[in-house]
This record gives sequence, structure tokens and C-alpha cells, in this order.
Amino acid sequence: MAPQTNVQPVSGHRAPLRRILVVDGSEVSRTVIRRTLEEALPDAEVLVCRSGGEALSLLDASPVDLVSTSLRLPDMDGLDLCRHLRRHKVSANVPVIVVSGDANARLLEGGFAAGVTDYFDKSLGYREFARFLRSFLARTAGLVGRILYVEDSATTAHHIMRVMKNHGLEVIHTQSAEQAFELLSLAQSAPESRKAPFDVVVTDFYLRGSMTGGDLLHAIRARLHLGQQELPVLVLTSAEEPERQIEVFHAGANDFVTKPVVEQILIARIRSLLTIRQQYAALRKQAEEMHHMAITDSLTGVHNKCHLLRQGERFLADRRNQPVSVLVIDLDRFKHLNDSYGHLVGDRILEALGGLLRECLREDTLAARFGGEEFVVLLPRCPLEEGCRRAEEIRQRIEHLYPEGIQVTASVGVACSEQHLHADLPSLLAMADKALYQAKQAGRNRVCA
Ligand code: GH3
Ligand code: MG
Ligand code: MG
Ligand code: MG
Repeated sequence: MAPQTNVQPVSGHRAPLRRILVVDGSEVSRTVIRRTLEEALPDAEVLVCRSGGEALSLLDASPVDLVSTSLRLPDMDGLDLCRHLRRHKVSANVPVIVVSGDANARLLEGGFAAGVTDYFDKSLGYREFARFLRSFLARTAGLVGRILYVEDSATTAHHIMRVMKNHGLEVIHTQSAEQAFELLSLAQSAPESRKAPFDVVVTDFYLRGSMTGGDLLHAIRARLHLGQQELPVLVLTSAEEPERQIEVFHAGANDFVTKPVVEQILIARIRSLLTIRQQYAALRKQAEEMHHMAITDSLTGVHNKCHLLRQGERFLADRRNQPVSVLVIDLDRFKHLNDSYGHLVGDRILEALGGLLRECLREDTLAARFGGEEFVVLLPRCPLEEGCRRAEEIRQRIEHLYPEGIQVTASVGVACSEQHLHADLPSLLAMADKALYQAKQAGRNRVCA
């Protein structure tokens, strides 16, 4: 049941190896930078090359997490390299740091337009450069996620999308709240395996069309029932409107950013919302795993007795108008197998039997390990005759299973709710158990009803 998400695991994991590409025309600089970075960033793999052309072909072969380039390269300048990188799919979103001794205002402006992520002043020295990169990588680590971005102005959308993508975010843009709502509804109803949910929604407040950002928020919270942790929403509003901002919180927004948007503020807010989303996803996954463990028999992988007794009654109640067949399957002379081959081999046999039951039973059946070598199966929409046929099929499959190369047989007792309209689960189990006793008495390896 765990939702697929693009968010990386939260904590407890060692940071993955980050690959840094350093582009510098001077051989001496390359050697010094490489040595300094390798020393200061033991978790990073440092690649070096001398020209823009080399950098581009290197990136074609394998992607990196960060590119640092000096401003002047033998074949092009650092900004040209950056423009090339932005045009290639593999490197379109990679952070690019320009290392320069003369980063004046004009250069900065042109550089950001070319897609430069940040500058580093070379005169501060390479040790400082290593510190800068370390802090940059730490800040960008975990900033991975899918953003649904709703903005009706093409120019604003273009700018903000570039900012988000430059920081490594995956962005899906829609021009209207209606389209966004449709995408979110689709993602929610898609089968689990094909789900590509969004981690954060970033929406403009004023939108052309009949829905505003506020309406979208309301729809996300009230109609899709996605809470603030499950799908955080960041709203872009104008600074002059405190009432609007209050309204946005009432509608269920996690946060807002005022326009004109300041890159660092936008990214910092998105980062904190992604963290909320990641922690929520991790907790939910943990809760699901714990629930699974609580209702599953660890050796055989079928449900445990506790689950059968708790859910079995409900299973019958939900199917009062249909026949339900109850099978009690017990391995024959299992004590003898344990005595001859050892308890561990016995365990492997039980494990294999669990696998067989899981494989041959449909989704809508309820199968559980009831005791040591005894299993119970509830078959819905199954009259007695068919119950016996299914039991015989299972008996034969067990007979031909040969787990651990040993022939194992089972006896099966069958009872059906159709013949006992008001019987509860314990009495159906008692009847099936009685039938099982008859099967044992009659010589084992057979089905009795
Ligand atoms: P019958 O044909 O009458 O059912 O004979 P049986 O030997 O299968 O029945 P009995 O109830 O006398 O013995 C069941 C055995 O199952 C005894 C116990 O050692 C074994 N058993 C119960 N749980 C486990 C388990 O988790 N692992 C292993 N290896 N053996 C188990
Ligand atoms: Mg607008
Ligand atoms: Mg037995
Ligand atoms: Mg038994």
C-alpha cells in the first residue's frame, strides 16, 4: 500500500556518493582543486576536465550532481558551457557553480540568465571553495521531489520553473487550477504501481478560469482529502494583501511566498515542505509495515490466527447472502517429519506450504496459519461442492509439491455456511475440524466434508 514517491529516504541512511565535475583550463589548478576536494569531501567523487567540449561529452556518458567551471575555458566561456548544459536533458537541472576572480554585477546578471546556480570568488582560495561546495551539497541534498506548479502567466511560469529546476526539482506545470485538480485526481485514482504522486503543490493565488488558487486548495483538502502533511501546498501571493494571506491559511495552505518571488526564499520554503512530506511518507510506510507484521505469520507469509479470528467474523458478515466454504488443512504425520529430518527442515516445509497457498488462492480469499502445521482458508462465493473441489485441488498440489525433496501430504476438512445459515466462525471452524478428524481417521491424505 505504500505510495510510490520521488522523495528520497529521510534519515538513517548514509548520503549517496555525490559526483562533482570540475572544469578548469589550467592543469595546476585542476590538480590542486581535485586534491583539496577529495580531502574535504570524502563522500564525493571528483572528476576533472580541461574544456567545455570535454565536459559535455563526459556528461553525455554519465551524469553528475554538480558542475563547477572556471569562467574562461580554452574552447568557450563558463556561461556558454552553462547554456549548453541547460539545453541537454541529462544536465538541464544540474547545479552549476562558476568559479571566478571577477564576478561583477553584469556578469552575475548574465550568468543567472544563462542558468548559473551560484558563483564562487576564486580569491577566497580552494579550501574555502571546498567548504562552499560541502555546504552547497548539504543544502541541496534531499531537495528531490515532484512539484505541481500552477501559474497562468507564461513569463512568471518560465522564470519560476527555471529556478525550481535549477535546484534539482522535477516540475510539472499547469496553467489553471482545473487542470491541476484533474492531474491530482488522476494521480489519486491511478493503480498503485503506476502512481506518480506530487510531493508539493506550488500555486499562484490569482488564476484565470473559474477556480482560484484558494479554490484549488479547498478542493485538495475537502474533495481529495489530502492533508497538509500528505500534500503540502505553497501559495504565491502579493505582499500587500494580509487578508488574502490569512484566507490562504484558512483554505489549508501550509505556507505562502510573496511576489515578486525571491529565489532563496522560494527554495527554502519548498525545502521545508518537502521535509514535512518526506517525514509523513516515512511514518506512513513504517505504520504500514508494522500493520503488515502484526497480521502476518512470519514463517509462512499467510495471515496469522489473530487476524483470522478478528477479520473472519467480518468476512462472513459481509457475505451473509453468499455461501462461504471453510477449509481446515492439516499436514499428515508432521511430527514424524520433524523427528526424521529435524525441526529446521520442518520449518522450510511449512514455509513452502505458505508459498503454495499464497500462490494458488485468489485475492478475495482469507488464508491463515491457525496453529503449528494447520491452516485455515475461507473461500467466498463458494458452495460446499465447490469447496470440496477446491480442497481436493489444494490437497493434490501439496502431494506433488515435494518441499525439501520430501513428499508431504495433508488432510482437509470442509464446512460451508450455506448448510448452516446462522453459524458463526468458531462453529464453522469446529465443523470443518470434525470433518478433518474424519479424514485423518479414514487414512489421511484426503478431503472430508
Ligand atoms: P496428524 O497426521 O495426526 O496430524 O499427525 P501430526 O504429527 O501432523 O500431528 P501432531 O499434532 O501430533 O503434531 C504436529 C507437529 O507439528 C508437532 C510439532 O512439533 C510440529 N510443529 C508445530 N509447529 C511447528 C513449527 O513451527 N515448526 C516445525 N518444524 N514444526 C512444528
Ligand atoms: Mg495569476
Ligand atoms: Mg498434523
Ligand atoms: Mg495439527
